[in-house]
Amino acid sequence: MDLNLLRERLLAIVGEAGIVCAADAAQRPAGFMRPEGVQCLLLVRPASTHEVAGVLRICHELRLPVVTQGGRTGLVHGADAMPGHLVLSLERMQQIEDINPRQRVARVQAGVTLQALQEAVQPHGLAFPLDLGARGSATLGGNAATNAGGNRVIRYGMMRDMVLGLEAVLADGSVVSSLNQLIKNNAGYDLKQLFLGSEGTLGVITRLVLRLRELPASQNVALVALRDFESVSGLLKHMDRTLGGGLSAFEVMWREFYELVSTPPAASAPPLPHGHAFYALIEAQGADQAPDNQRFVAALEAALESGLVADAAIAASQRECAALWALRDDVMQTARHGWPLTFDISLPLDAMQAYVQQLRAALAQRWPAHHCWVFGHLGDGNLHLVIHTGSEADRPAVEQLVYQPLAVLQGSISAEHGIGLEKKPYLHLSRNPAEIALMRALKQTLDPLNLLNPGKIF
Ligand code: ZN
Repeated sequence: MDLNLLRERLLAIVGEAGIVCAADAAQRPAGFMRPEGVQCLLLVRPASTHEVAGVLRICHELRLPVVTQGGRTGLVHGADAMPGHLVLSLERMQQIEDINPRQRVARVQAGVTLQALQEAVQPHGLAFPLDLGARGSATLGGNAATNAGGNRVIRYGMMRDMVLGLEAVLADGSVVSSLNQLIKNNAGYDLKQLFLGSEGTLGVITRLVLRLRELPASQNVALVALRDFESVSGLLKHMDRTLGGGLSAFEVMWREFYELVSTPPAASAPPLPHGHAFYALIEAQGADQAPDNQRFVAALEAALESGLVADAAIAASQRECAALWALRDDVMQTARHGWPLTFDISLPLDAMQAYVQQLRAALAQRWPAHHCWVFGHLGDGNLHLVIHTGSEADRPAVEQLVYQPLAVLQGSISAEHGIGLEKKPYLHLSRNPAEIALMRALKQTLDPLNLLNPGKIF
């Protein structure tokens, strides 16, 4: 392929500002905390759906593989490209096209960051409730392509539940505009679902219609200590029932993780003493601070009296709420001993405790000096495991220990991060042959030349 000729044809579509050469692209980090730069033949930055379509038509004609990149905050190498790939960055598509406070929808271009939308809807008394640590760089297009989760899934669902419509460009450059803004629309197949969570393998999402919610006016947060796992699942039910739909987060930290994030050099002091088996961060959002607080405190008092909870610290101000969240979010402490392996799994609540115990035993047998920190969105059945054995070379062996037991438990090797390249060898543990065959058939139909994000997922 003549690179100059390709450059010239792309230039005619996206203009000078829309093209970045391979050497300049290599100056961008390939992902979060990754030392290497973005690899590609060329990086193209279209500014509209029309331009994305033009670029994809050329790539289709030339059989040139395309990797779409958003904020590059993913954790499973889902947006990695190779030197022969064209990287399609949506970073110039940052327009919030419309916010409709009555219909409670927003229409955005795919390159808008999660935080930019959160901030833009707030003055309207509305919220876009998806929330995750990378909000400042993660893009809404990337959130949709990976079906992002985060901290408030228990209340609002995942990204999939917040997308009403979308526009995508297919591998051949044709545009499917499906910018539905209705909550209910059963007119045939729900085509947006094809692209949500497809990790850029079936089309390039260019625009989205997103569902907004009324901005909660009250927030109550507490940290509680629990004696055993039975109490953890009991408390989840108790709080959800007692708060009448107000429960917005139920985050659990196993003892080792809590001690890590509340011991120097971590910035947080422990709000509750060390030594309990589990700690849970509980959040409720509602409409009226004083009565909501009363109800929240009463629910926790009842849990203390019944013995479900061993100890509790209730935030008395917005600042204290933020401090409790900062403790839970201080995940970077797990990199204290060197870069660890991170996992994002789902499994039934009933199986969780035994699974973690068996995993710890298996790790201890093989790597007596290992670290294993466990925390997660327990209200969603989603655990994050962070494991440090001291060597990256141990990765395949650790992955086997983490993933293999999930097959019989009907758990998932990915609750929210996706498959990318990292979990590809293990997809069969969470999806059966008929499911994978149907995925392949969809890929074959929408992208028969295998040009979109090739090699990802399966
Ligand atoms: Zn998470």
